[in-house]
Amino acid sequence: MGKAINQATTMTEGKDLRLEDLKVSLDHICSEIAERFNLCLPTGKPRTATIINILASSPCIGCIVRRLQQQDRPIIDAVYLENHRLAVGILVEQLHSFLAKMGYKVSVLTEARLEHSTADILIAPTDYGVNLQCGQNNVLIEVKTGNALSYSQLFRSLIDISNATVVLWRIKRRQVAVIRRKRLQPMLLAFMRMCILRGGRVLAETGPVKCQHSTTWSNFTLSAKEFENTIHDFADALMDTLPTVMETVLREIRSNGGER
Ligand SMILES: [Zn+2]
Repeated sequence: MGKAINQATTMTEGKDLRLEDLKVSLDHICSEIAERFNLCLPTGKPRTATIINILASSPCIGCIVRRLQQQDRPIIDAVYLENHRLAVGILVEQLHSFLAKMGYKVSVLTEARLEHSTADILIAPTDYGVNLQCGQNNVLIEVKTGNALSYSQLFRSLIDISNATVVLWRIKRRQVAVIRRKRLQPMLLAFMRMCILRGGRVLAETGPVKCQHSTTWSNFTLSAKEFENTIHDFADALMDTLPTVMETVLREIRSNGGER
């Protein structure tokens, strides 16, 4: 036990140098896993986000391999995805319109529009939510539509972006939290190291891996009434908390040196 704690402490020393090293190793592991399990984007790049999520999901290599092989996601995800898309869409437009009214030159960046921009603030929708880039500073708004808090999602958004502040918008819980990367740095490094080590264990397996865990998704279906409630709850929570998110983000932009 004591030894494990010592190792964890040693591991978090050296800060950003360590982070860059770990990033390289993690990218390498993800590429190898992508190649083995055919998990690439149409562009040919590894589906790093999916791979990291799966690596972080269980210490059981059997379960991880099964999830890497299984491309179908349960149906419930479709509802969350749709809610997520809607929340992100509303947020992007509101931010764009508010920031423009405040006098900023704002640009919404999408994958199809990656040219160098002269905007003061760039708004980029991402798979976790919205990334606001204001000079050297980044405010990441992570939009959560389910009840769960996923560390892997939070960390994924932090791995690539330094100077980041995360505004966590948990819609259904009606919570808006501000998380600074500096505070999470040691845990972020430990998380990356965990994914690298686990990815190494996955790649070390050459034959089929058995495990005793359940192989079926819990068959989740909503009744008409539950479905109705879900949509109503989400709609109320989204509109109730949107002003708080806007306020929080604008405050972060100002405190990050975006004052004008
Ligand atoms: Zn298992």
